[in-house]
Amino acid sequence: MQTAIFDKMESEVRTYSRSFPVVFTAAREARLTDEQGHEYIDFLAGAGTLNYGHNHPALKQALLEYLAGDGIVHGLDMWTRAKRDYLETLEYTILKPRNLEYKVHLPGPTGANAVEAAIRLARLATGRHNIVSFTNGFHGVTMGALACTGNRKFREATGGIPLQGTSFMPFDGYLGDGSDTLGYFAKLLSDASSGLDLPAAVIVETVQGEGGINVASVAWLQQLERLCRQHGILLIVDDIQAGCGRTGKFFSFEHAAITPDIVTNSKSLSGLGLPFSQVLMRPELDQWKPGQYNGTFRGFGLAMVTATAALRTFWRDNTLEQEVQRKGERVAEHMQRMAAWLNGQGIAASERGRGLMRGLDVGDGALAGRITSEAFRQGLVIETSGHAGQVVKCLCPLTISDDDLLAGLEILEVSIKKSVALHSVA
Ligand SMILES: *Cc1c(COP(=O)(O)O)cnc(C)c1O
Repeated sequence: MQTAIFDKMESEVRTYSRSFPVVFTAAREARLTDEQGHEYIDFLAGAGTLNYGHNHPALKQALLEYLAGDGIVHGLDMWTRAKRDYLETLEYTILKPRNLEYKVHLPGPTGANAVEAAIRLARLATGRHNIVSFTNGFHGVTMGALACTGNRKFREATGGIPLQGTSFMPFDGYLGDGSDTLGYFAKLLSDASSGLDLPAAVIVETVQGEGGINVASVAWLQQLERLCRQHGILLIVDDIQAGCGRTGKFFSFEHAAITPDIVTNSKSLSGLGLPFSQVLMRPELDQWKPGQYNGTFRGFGLAMVTATAALRTFWRDNTLEQEVQRKGERVAEHMQRMAAWLNGQGIAASERGRGLMRGLDVGDGALAGRITSEAFRQGLVIETSGHAGQVVKCLCPLTISDDDLLAGLEILEVSIKKSVALHSVA
């Protein structure tokens, strides 16, 4: 296996290739193949970017036809047929059936780009600067998005430039069971002497992905929405990872029946893994002046084509939602069994998640790392998240076959048993 060029040329900043040091050559559905012909089941799926699996035939077909017809690949933010198709499909397939009225801003194609646009719009629309985000939140690594991100490793990489304009509040469950984290936030908001500048917006993930699959309860999300309304604060749901069906609904906030003022989507939005992001906003918040926020790659033509195909293929009925629900329960049962087994070995472990966004917290980053390394040796690509990397997370494609799902879970179980045996020797 020739890998010298990566070591020689690629910056030390690389990450996932360290966990999975093989050269991948092909992928289909929930399986990756490396240069040696080894197959791996993919429980990482581009960190939630491949909800419909690798190279889904309907999406690939739409892309190939568009290219064969010399469709517009790049058109800045000019009107194209691809964009019209996308906006119409989004309106009629997703927004209308959910009674949502949003205008769409297509910024540059990354998640961080959408978050930057969302928080800037909130500041523009309210005339206030402060953004409240939550402990363990992850919103991207450009300066504005990073200011909303909790993790110190990322925050320390600014070279000392201060990250400004945000205040952190404890996420649901952060202070332990039974502690009223929003009660604390409410108190600060109602006290003119609390030191908290009245926020323009709150930005929240309903299930924190990078932060460790921390699930905000329905009641907590509803209380957060009420608090925002009471104080004239905009509610931004960052649905970049939890959206596009990951939790069992197209938008993760549907579970709580709340209506954010602003929503960000990216990761699985294009469906095929092409870069694409959007900001959805209540129409009256659209206070941008023409060109005030721009970007060369606004509304990437190919991504709009595959995004449209994804909405038409998977979101015209609720089959996928039901599948995510069913498979999610399956993963939960298995992970609960694994957690119980770990508890029996004297290791505090627990399972959590919503839909197919699930995590097994083993309480210790070193153990979680051993488990995922062992799993990789056995043919499963799976990663960790959380403040100490202590949560083994399952982000498998929503479309994964039952056979692959079960095979992946079995590898995970064997890897846990093997790693614990090694862990207790070490
Ligand atoms: C991945 C992610 C981002 C950042 O997206 P990039 O494309 O990596 O910039 C922002 N918010 C959430 C919730 C994410 O999971």
